[in-house]
Parts: sequence; C-alpha cells; structure tokens
Amino acid sequence: MHLSSIFISNFRNLSSTQIEPGKRFNLLYGLNGQGKTNLLEAIYLLGSPRSFRNARFPELVKYGENQTSIIGTVESAGIENKLRLSIESAGRRVEIDGKSVYKASELHGKFNAVIFSPDDTGMVRMGPDSRRRYLDRTVYMGDIGYLHCWHSYQRILKQRNQLLKSSDRTGLDIWTEKLAETGAEVIERRIKFIHALDCKLQKYYATIAGGAETSGIIYTPNGIKSKDRKQIFQELMDLFKRQQRTDERYGTTTAGPHRDDLIFMMDERPLKTFGSQGQQKSFILALKMAEMDNLNDIFGETPLLLLDDMSSELDSRRNNNLMEFLHTREIQVFITTTERAPLILDVAHQCTVFHVENGNLTIEGS
Ligand code: ATP
Ligand code: MG
Repeated sequence: MHLSSIFISNFRNLSSTQIEPGKRFNLLYGLNGQGKTNLLEAIYLLGSPRSFRNARFPELVKYGENQTSIIGTVESAGIENKLRLSIESAGRRVEIDGKSVYKASELHGKFNAVIFSPDDTGMVRMGPDSRRRYLDRTVYMGDIGYLHCWHSYQRILKQRNQLLKSSDRTGLDIWTEKLAETGAEVIERRIKFIHALDCKLQKYYATIAGGAETSGIIYTPNGIKSKDRKQIFQELMDLFKRQQRTDERYGTTTAGPHRDDLIFMMDERPLKTFGSQGQQKSFILALKMAEMDNLNDIFGETPLLLLDDMSSELDSRRNNNLMEFLHTREIQVFITTTERAPLILDVAHQCTVFHVENGNLTIEGS
C-alpha cells in the first residue's frame, strides 16, 4: 500500500501543507526541531489509534489552535481510500471517503505503517512500560479482536481496583472472574501474535548479523504456563487468588496481563543486559522487518515504513542489509535525516526529497 497524497493542518509545528509523496523512497531532511518527526507522527496516526510517541491528543494540536486535520489518500490493492482524521482536545474523529467511522474495526488495516525510531532502540533498555506499550500497539495492528478485549480488560480492572480501595468489597469475586476471563483472551492473543513475530525476527536477525548470534522474543505472562484460553483462565484465577491479600493491602490489582513484559533475547541471554549497543539496534531493526513481513502476511499488502532519524541509527553494514530488504519489496518509505544525502540513499533510486524547515515542507525534486 502507499500514500499518494497527504494534507496536514495545524499538526504540532506543521503549517498547512499538502504533499504528494513518491511511491518508493521519500527523504525528509532538515535541522533539529523543524518538524520531521512530527510529519512521520501525522502519517502514522492515519492508521493507528495512538501516536508512536505516546502523546495525548491535545499535545498534537498546534499551540493556539483548536483542531488539527490530517487527510491522506491511500492506495491499497488497487483501491483508493481517502482517510480524514480530525483531532481536538476532546478526542479524534475519523472519516473514510467522507463517511464518519465510529468503530476502530472499520479503519483497521486500511492504512498500515511501521515506525523505526530512536525510541524503539531505547525500548530494549527501558522499563517494562515501554515494551508493554509496544506489545499492545503491535498486536493490535495485526489483530483487530485484540483492541476490543484489551479495552474490556482495562474497564474491568478499573472496577476491580475501585472495589479493592473501598471498605465494602461486595462483588469482588464477580469482578475477579470477569478479569480472568478477558485477561485470558488478552494473553492468548498476545501469545499467538508474538509467536508469529518471533519466527520472523529470528530469520531477519540472522540475515543482519550474518549468523553471528541468535535472537528471540519471549512473552511469558506472569504466573501463566498454558497457551489455551480455558487453562489460562484457570491459572489467572489461581494467580488472582494468591495475590488477593496483597491486592487488598495495596488497593490495586498487583498481577495480571497489565503487568506483563516482553523479553528480548540474544544467544539465550537477555539482550537488555548482555547485548552491545550495535546488537540492540540490529535486534530492533530485525523486529521491524518482522513486523512488516507479518502485516504483509495478514493483509496481503506491504505496510509503509517510517524511518526516523536515520543518521544516528545505523552503521553501513546494517544500512546495506536494510536497503537490500527494502529493494526486494515494493515498500513506500519515509526517511528523516539532518543531512540531504545520507548514507542510506547511496543505493536508493526513485527518491523524492523534501526539505523541512520551521514546520514548512518544500519539494526538491526526485
Ligand atoms: P530532530 O532532528 O531534533 O529530531 P525534528 O525535525 O524531528 O527534529 P520534531 O520533533 O518533528 O523535530 O519537531 C519538534 C518541534 O515541534 C519542536 O520545536 C516543538 O516545540 C514543536 N512542537 C511540538 N508540539 C507542538 C505543538 N503542539 N504546537 C507547536 N509546535 C509544537
Ligand atoms: Mg526528530
């Protein structure tokens, strides 16, 4: 799939702007703080309910304005759709071809983009929150049922936590059972998705590292050994029972899928503690390739790739491996850098260049 045009108004520091990106490589270059990542964020938001920067909606609207709009024309499998996104402090509204969309499922898969940014590399070293956010975002992109059960889980968790805080705990058992029921679905969907991603990750990492090390991604939910939803439900019930006194003391649910983490592995050891910086970057790059491949399998269309801040991300070997991957597939790519002619473009043909300055975009030809 590809984006054939995008109109943006009042998004962060971006002025009202319309561009027609190239079908293959698009380079967005400019000095620090000019709006390059903002543009990638706007593109990403066309297909995702949340920003990859984990920003709240009011932060996305240009200072002093009330609303921002992003309109994108997306071509996928020979079909063109016009997606319109309006964001104001109260929330967001989405239209597809002029019709309002109220359910996330109607938008799902209409526009897929994978982002590779310095924040992703940081995710290896940071606390579990960032990996959990990544997990939820990634599973949702490929599994529409996930968002629904994850929202239900959050609602039930809130109710249960309110009861744990109050002196009257009538009904706690019922909420615990409901939590285990939806929690089991959340976990089951995560296990399936991460398994598919892991197989692809191993393959891409081997290509990048030339077989020097092995890699893997492990999702082992706390206190759960089974893979089948019914058994996971039982195990979650046992877990909540074991934790009940602690939960009552702290007034909150202290264990469950809302506390889970992903473990990134290198040669059977945690990447976080044993991987070098280069290995950590290679791992994340392989993970992104795996994500793209996975979305391609699910939707039959390659997603867009948004490569943020490439100048600081890759050395020449990894860069070449990435380029090889991109050249063998028809992927539309947006690359941001501070230099006009970064390393990554050495082998890239069909590149459209945009200069980003103080929130304005100017095309400098292909
Ligand atoms: P770098 O090369 O440093 O990554 P960049 O070109 O990617 O820079 P962005 O992150 O896209 O920079 O843009 C940052 C600019 O956007 C900052 O100057 C910031 O103050 C501005 N900005 C962020 N949010 C808003 C907003 N809601 N309204 C106006 N400006 C904003
Ligand atoms: Mg940036």
